[in-house]
Amino acid sequence: MRKILYKGGELDLEYDVVIGLEVHVELSTKTKMYCGCKNIFGGRVNSNCCEICLGMPGTLPTVNKKAVEYAIKAGLAFGCTINKKTSFARKNYFYPDLPKSYQISQANFPLCVGGFVEILLDEGRKTKKVNLRQIHMEEDAGKLIHDESLGLTLVDYNRAGVPLIEIVSMPDLESAQEVKTYLETIRNTLMCLGVSDCRMQEGSMRCDVNISLKPKGSEVLGTRCEIKNVGSFNGAFKAVECEINRQKGILNAGGQIEQITMRWDESKNDNVIMREKESADDYRYFEEPDLPILEIDGAEIERIKKTIPELPNAKLARLMQDYGIVYADANLLVSNLDKCGVFESVVKLAKCAPNKVANWILGDVSRILNEKNIELKDSKLNVRNFSQMLELIEEGKISNTAGKTVLEEIMEEDIAPLEVIEKNGLAQINDEEALKAIAAEVLSTNPQISELYNKGKTNILGFAVGQCMKLSKGQGNPVIFQKIVSDLIMRG
Ligand SMILES: [Zn+2]
Repeated sequence: MRKILYKGGELDLEYDVVIGLEVHVELSTKTKMYCGCKNIFGGRVNSNCCEICLGMPGTLPTVNKKAVEYAIKAGLAFGCTINKKTSFARKNYFYPDLPKSYQISQANFPLCVGGFVEILLDEGRKTKKVNLRQIHMEEDAGKLIHDESLGLTLVDYNRAGVPLIEIVSMPDLESAQEVKTYLETIRNTLMCLGVSDCRMQEGSMRCDVNISLKPKGSEVLGTRCEIKNVGSFNGAFKAVECEINRQKGILNAGGQIEQITMRWDESKNDNVIMREKESADDYRYFEEPDLPILEIDGAEIERIKKTIPELPNAKLARLMQDYGIVYADANLLVSNLDKCGVFESVVKLAKCAPNKVANWILGDVSRILNEKNIELKDSKLNVRNFSQMLELIEEGKISNTAGKTVLEEIMEEDIAPLEVIEKNGLAQINDEEALKAIAAEVLSTNPQISELYNKGKTNILGFAVGQCMKLSKGQGNPVIFQKIVSDLIMRG
């Protein structure tokens, strides 16, 4: 192994990676954090703001009760201690998207402290607790729109004052994969709690990543660099990989890490530097004089605790245990509650193996949704029609191929699968004589099938069955075709 000199001593070129995350999540309350403006994504620019979220002098904020409830719910789900007395603080900085020139956040007395996020690694065979420092409440800023054609920067304050929680982790994460899994676990959990839609593409969940490297086993932390505002799981994965490699490169060459702040640039597929040699931010925090200390009733916390549903990790373990489906499928189902709900209902209703139901949902149903760019709830698929379709396949009344056609239609409108089959002539032909005639035709027009099969290329059978299915317009029973084709070849 190559060796390098490190602070006078000889060390291996191996490093411990130390990563801490701050995850910002917009809460899906009806109104904003400190005023009554609507909390919705988009809308005509500057149509969803008032004198309070615009920071006009003399206006007074009030705390959104629902936002506090949602933040407590998140805290309880992650095992945090809920502070019975919590207060708000002004975080002062100037930026054009921040009309008040301060954000109302929390500093000394955050709502939730401690707790942890348990992440599943190695296909669920390993778990790791990522400890949390705190979860606090704050408000979002507005949005700057850089208009190249006008040569102007415009500002939209619709987002100013949208309630946020910031989930601050301890530096317990050690790799890009752990970061991605951690973010996915947070998203799945918050969606499951119903406190946020966690739409990263709409900016309702984003994170700041702090990364440093230190020689393996060293007690002394290295200089950390920050990547701001990462807005996708894959972006986070790639940004962390890039930064680890950059720091390794510098350290391996005997250099020193300078403290810098970067942002992930998706188009460049790299982190770009925003600020160099930064001293610690001084936000001049002070307690918000316009908001009293918030006292939270223990009974209220107990009431919220009772509203917490089965959480993703428990759900994932139960899906694997009860239905015998593999980790990858269970994980995909857990990340989409609508699909998971349909899965569980169909498994209970239809006489069809759970793994087959999962395959249909994660395969063709998801493919059709992707093609149409819609969510499951926007399609017409219901449990009754879907279950009937699966049973018709199980009973051999339609082929898998015909099933796909039926699926397309029952996702488009609420129509009985039998009606679709009748309308499109999709009923499966199980009559051996009829199938034999088709198979014979395929073998006579493709003499190479028999030749290759007799030379030992038995996998040509798949091609032959495919041709039979084609000739029968997808209506032949492929299992019977398979048997007939091999019988016919054997008989020569
Ligand atoms: Zn407002």
